[in-house]
Amino acid sequence: MKVTDYLKNAGNNTLISFEVLPPLKGSGMQDIFNLLDPLMEFKPPFIDVTYHREEYIYKKQDSGYYEKTAIRKRPGTVGICAAIMHRYEVDAVPHLICGGFNREDTENALIDLNFLEINNVLALRGDALQFDSKFVPEPGGNAYALDLVKQVDDMNHGRYLDENIENGQKTDFCIGIAGYPEKHFEAPNMESDLSFIKQKVEAGADYIVTQMFFDNKKYFEYVESCRNAGIHIPIVPGLKPMTKLYQLSSIPRHFYINLPEDLVSAFLSAKTMEAKRQVGIEWCVAQSQELKAAGVPCLHYYTMGDVDTIKKIAESVF
Ligand code: FAD
Repeated sequence: MKVTDYLKNAGNNTLISFEVLPPLKGSGMQDIFNLLDPLMEFKPPFIDVTYHREEYIYKKQDSGYYEKTAIRKRPGTVGICAAIMHRYEVDAVPHLICGGFNREDTENALIDLNFLEINNVLALRGDALQFDSKFVPEPGGNAYALDLVKQVDDMNHGRYLDENIENGQKTDFCIGIAGYPEKHFEAPNMESDLSFIKQKVEAGADYIVTQMFFDNKKYFEYVESCRNAGIHIPIVPGLKPMTKLYQLSSIPRHFYINLPEDLVSAFLSAKTMEAKRQVGIEWCVAQSQELKAAGVPCLHYYTMGDVDTIKKIAESVF
C-alpha cells in the first residue's frame, strides 16, 4: 500500500513509522530484525531504509603514496526492503538518491523495485561526497531531487528513457521527498527552498518527511509556510532523540539545525551518561506528545540503531 493511503486511512489517528540504516558491510539482516522485532508491537505501517553511497578512503601503498579507493560501507537498501516486507506485514520505503546514479541506473533500480512490489520511494538528492565541496551529479545523472521526482513520475506514466518503448508499463510509485523546517543548508532562504518543494509537488511528489528538529515551533511554522506557499501534501515530522554528549555538536554540524537552549542546559546539567540519555528521551517524548495532540499524520523516528531508546519513547507516546 502507498504511504499516502496509510496516512489518509488513519483519519485523525497519528501513525508511527521508523527509519533504519542498512547494517555495515560484514553484518547480516539479523541486525535489522533485532532492531525492528521489538518495535513491531507499535504497528508501523511503513519502514524507511536509508541509502548510502560510496565513500572514498586513502590507503597507504608500499611506495608510500596514497591510493584513493571507493568503498560502500552500507550496501543493500533494496534487499533489506524486500526482506522487511517478507518478514513483517509492512511496506518498506527505500530511499533513492541522485548521487552515484546516472538516469539509466535509476531507471533500472526503479524497475527492480517495481518487480519486488515495492511501490513507495523517498526521492532525494544526496549530499556531496566527503572530499567534494559541493554535490556533483553523475554524468547523465539527476542533479536535484526535483529531476529524480520527474523521472519516477515519468515511469508512473509509462515513459521510459528509451523512447522506442511504446505503451511502457506504468509503475505506481508513491513519492516522498525531504523537507527542512530549519531550511536546507544550501538554500539562500526559506522562500527559495519552498519554491523547489512546490516544484517537486507539481512534478508528482506525494508527501514530505522532515529533517529532524528539536523545537516543535519550527515544524508548525514550516507547515504554515508550506500551506501559504500552496504546498498541501502531508508533512510527516521526523524525530530523533539526542542521547549522547557528542551529539551536542555533531547534530548541528551534520544536520544544520539548532538545539533549543532548554534542551542543551538540561543535557549539560545531567551528571551521568544515563541521566543525559533520560533528558533526551523525555524531550523527545514531550515533542512527540505535543505533535500528536496537534494531529500530525505520523511520527517518523530516526532509529540510528538505538532500539531501546526508540522503544521507550514509543511506549510513552503510543
Ligand atoms: P534537493 O531537493 O535537490 O535540494 C538540494 C538543494 O538545492 C536545496 O538547497 C534546494 O533548495 C536546492 N534546489 C532544489 N532544487 C533545485 C533546482 N532545481 N535548482 C536549484 N536549486 C535547487 N541522504 C542520503 O544520502 N541517503 C538517505 O537515505 C537520506 N535520507 C534522508 C531522509 C530525510 C527525511 C532527509 C530530510 C534527508 C535525507 N538525506 C539522505 C539527506 C539529503 O540527501 C540531503 O539533505 C541533501 O543535501 C538534499 O537532499 P534533497 O532531496 O532535499 O535535495
